[in-house]
Amino acid sequence: MSPDLARYHRQMLLPGFGEEGQRRLLGSTALLLGCGALGSVAADMLARAGVGHLVIVDRDVVELTNLQRQVLFDEDDAARAVPKAVAAKRRLATVNSQVRVTAIVDDLNHTNIERYAAGADILVDGLDNIETRYLANDLAVKMGLPYIYGAAIGSTGMAFSVLPHTTLGKPWETAAKGGLATPCLRCLFAEAPPPGTSPTCDTVGVISSAVAMVANFQVAETLKVLTGNVDRVSRTLLNLDLWENEILQFKGGDAYDSGDCPCCKLRHFEYLDGRAGSSATTLCGRNAVQLRQRQEEQGVDLGAVAGRLRGYGPVTSNEFMLRAQITDGDRNYEITLFPNGRAIIKGTDVASVARAVYARYVGS
Ligand SMILES: [Zn+2]
Repeated sequence: MSPDLARYHRQMLLPGFGEEGQRRLLGSTALLLGCGALGSVAADMLARAGVGHLVIVDRDVVELTNLQRQVLFDEDDAARAVPKAVAAKRRLATVNSQVRVTAIVDDLNHTNIERYAAGADILVDGLDNIETRYLANDLAVKMGLPYIYGAAIGSTGMAFSVLPHTTLGKPWETAAKGGLATPCLRCLFAEAPPPGTSPTCDTVGVISSAVAMVANFQVAETLKVLTGNVDRVSRTLLNLDLWENEILQFKGGDAYDSGDCPCCKLRHFEYLDGRAGSSATTLCGRNAVQLRQRQEEQGVDLGAVAGRLRGYGPVTSNEFMLRAQITDGDRNYEITLFPNGRAIIKGTDVASVARAVYARYVGS
């Protein structure tokens, strides 16, 4: 064994791994979509495993309440409000100097995700909202890239590996064409729930072990794909609840079987084309950003959202609108939310900050 592979000896002992698998890993690029709880656990493990290039995209800075579960960051990062992608890069350089890390501080959206994914062999989900997950799923199916979905909230978690049928000649192409392609995320979850109906880590909390379990599942799946062990990739949706002692695996994808999935069957990439999802407009001179759903519906239960937000500051609501004052670290925001999901986030004129506040406190 060559000396540069010595540190990976224990994982190279696994069946189907070996020196060849390790060399494939070292020659691979993984795009980490977000570097919060899932992303920081995954990035740490993938760097240790020797994935040669990690591209980390995240829009947030480290805060004290992140440290309970976001294992790459420390108190100094939080005190200095270092961007998560930058803090991750610094930390990972001390973990494995054989791995190159590209840190990108940005809000992932339909105008930039293709650029950031250029050269990537796999997409690893560390996102905090379903809209950007659909965007990643669109990109995965369009480009033929494996996409490892993961999500954790409260004591629960879910994960699923998407292997699209179309590929661009990646190492796993032969296996995928041999019938190993899977349903996509929209086969499993056809439409996003209305805004305000999904719990978020900032409204119902999250336990670090649920995050770590999901992220470690994602890492195992990523290592299988990148070492060429596609036949070992899970075919089921992992669903766990550590507080209720449940670990279940579901076979999903009715829309895949019936052939009417808008994404992987009809190849309508609504999120990647910017036709679905939300748009952000900075409201000049008001230190505020308006977020508008492209497909508006009267679906938001303002009373339920108000109930969840009362712990963060004063909330007033009626049938037409909700207004909540939120204290987030040392920042104050005012969220005004309408029944069709339109929102005005006051306290910032930066679209990515407004999206982050919306994802945390309203949920999507
Ligand atoms: Zn699909």
